[in-house]
Amino acid sequence: MLLIHCPYCEQDLPELEFAYAGEAHIARPADPSKLTDEEWRDFLFIRTNPRGVHFERWRHINGCARFFNAARETVSDRFLLTYKAGEPRPDVAKLTGVAQ
Ligand SMILES: [Zn+2]
Repeated sequence: MLLIHCPYCEQDLPELEFAYAGEAHIARPADPSKLTDEEWRDFLFIRTNPRGVHFERWRHINGCARFFNAARETVSDRFLLTYKAGEPRPDVAKLTGVAQ
């Protein structure tokens, strides 16, 4: 079973306690009314979907119910680390030793 570390509860817990909540670090446009239809579509639907390190939002739905971010290696499905929402995105090169 996959274990995910909740940075708020500070425990490694079964993945069944968590829910995936999309890609992390996507900022809502300051004034959506000034975007073109294509820019708005891109904000809503276009995601990076990388082969390698992916930054994701997760929610501890059966625990503290808080959102947090995770860096997950998509090829191996291994979580590299988790960190609290609002903290900056970690440097990928420091996580993997390889620049992306
Ligand atoms: Zn938690």
